[in-house]
Amino acid sequence: MAITSLSRRAATLLAIWCLTVSGLFAQTAVKLPKNRYTPEQDVQVGREAAAEIKQQYPIIKDERVTTYLTLLGDRLVAAAPAELKKPVYEYSFTPVNLKEINAFALPGGPMFVHRGMFTAAASEGEVVGVMAHELSHVLLRHGTANASKAQNPWLQLGQLAGQIGGAMVGGGAGAAIAQGADFGLGTLLLKYSREYEKQADLLGAQIMARAGYDPRALAHMFETIQQETKSSGGGGPQWMSSHPDPGNRTLYITKEAEALTIASAADDRGFAPIKTAFASLPAPLTMAELAKRKTEPAGNGVRSVGTPGQPVPPPSAEYRTINGGKVFQADVPSNWTPVSTSNAIRIVPENGFGELNGQIAFSHGIEFGIAQAGTRDLREATTTWLRAVAQNNPELRVAGEQQALKVSQRSAIGTMLVNSSPLGGQERIGLYTTFLADGTLFYYLTVVPEKDAAAFQEVFRRIGESIRLTDAR
Ligand SMILES: [Zn+2]
Repeated sequence: MAITSLSRRAATLLAIWCLTVSGLFAQTAVKLPKNRYTPEQDVQVGREAAAEIKQQYPIIKDERVTTYLTLLGDRLVAAAPAELKKPVYEYSFTPVNLKEINAFALPGGPMFVHRGMFTAAASEGEVVGVMAHELSHVLLRHGTANASKAQNPWLQLGQLAGQIGGAMVGGGAGAAIAQGADFGLGTLLLKYSREYEKQADLLGAQIMARAGYDPRALAHMFETIQQETKSSGGGGPQWMSSHPDPGNRTLYITKEAEALTIASAADDRGFAPIKTAFASLPAPLTMAELAKRKTEPAGNGVRSVGTPGQPVPPPSAEYRTINGGKVFQADVPSNWTPVSTSNAIRIVPENGFGELNGQIAFSHGIEFGIAQAGTRDLREATTTWLRAVAQNNPELRVAGEQQALKVSQRSAIGTMLVNSSPLGGQERIGLYTTFLADGTLFYYLTVVPEKDAAAFQEVFRRIGESIRLTDAR
């Protein structure tokens, strides 16, 4: 057996793994990445996040669909390498009534598949391919492997669970921005590197073959997703934002497929009837519709401050100091109220934050938060963050040039934005970004309706100047 570009150790591993070898090439050995968490912790964080997702997502309960999806999932689990299947894992396969082509799996096993994935798939093998890819992220423990790499001062694995729902759904429509923060932490578990993507593709292809599916269906599904991204004007399916294309996907999946023996073909007669079952369900929601519907979950420390829509009293001339974990301190008007989630803090005046017409409205105030940055280039990190926020805020626009400035004596960038205000009309948002010592993006943003902008200019300036970053070790 010819083993190219594999180390001797990998070759030994491969010998254990490689049960089906055909032709000249062996299947690729996929190595479990370093991880400082236990499989039990994977299960714990996945279980918590799944509970939150289930509260927020339109779960499909139709028995035809749930039974079918579980059948496909069970087939894949049965075909997965035994040494990666930790007994503690809790696999589940949940269909959701969402339009976008997407699927995602949480650490420890819970998987969610969008209806849009079925709509776009030309065959059962294509859905199975994406599920095998997702299952591979679970088995390779990519979520907590990502978290293992981060050295975020706020990072507690338990906290991440609560953020995933927010990251996936986006914040309330009025809050530009809440989801910006959520995006940072929540997707730490769900946003994979290109290296992990390739691993999931290769292991996924191997699992598919053993379950009786041609792995080339996976490559074809990725092509469909990519076309969808182009035709939707670059906004792209959500899939692409958490599963970046490693490049040459079709090529290496095809090559891997050639090295694999495909088990006797799986029975795929369930696929056609499932399309009929979907047709009898209520129309799927888009992610944007879901984000509009979302109200922030109770018990998350989120509460209204006054009654949004009522007049906002002027800021007090007296200030007090607030602490943001080990990360920062700032002085804020003494009549403003902090509203915390585990990874962002909003300080808001009376009537500046709360439920309005069934949505969470954040109309006045300041928000501090952190976000994972994939780069040391501040401008690029800021742009990436903004792009993520803009996905759920179609009205959000950059207004004018970005400015270099200082936050707590560190180099920072100021970006002025406009958005539609939850109170009607326009709102002005000032976004200020800098890096923490560990490379995490720290941001704060000021939010005020256009009509009140002049009255809040001074208070925002004063808070900005008071910020002291305290993360340095
Ligand atoms: Zn992936």
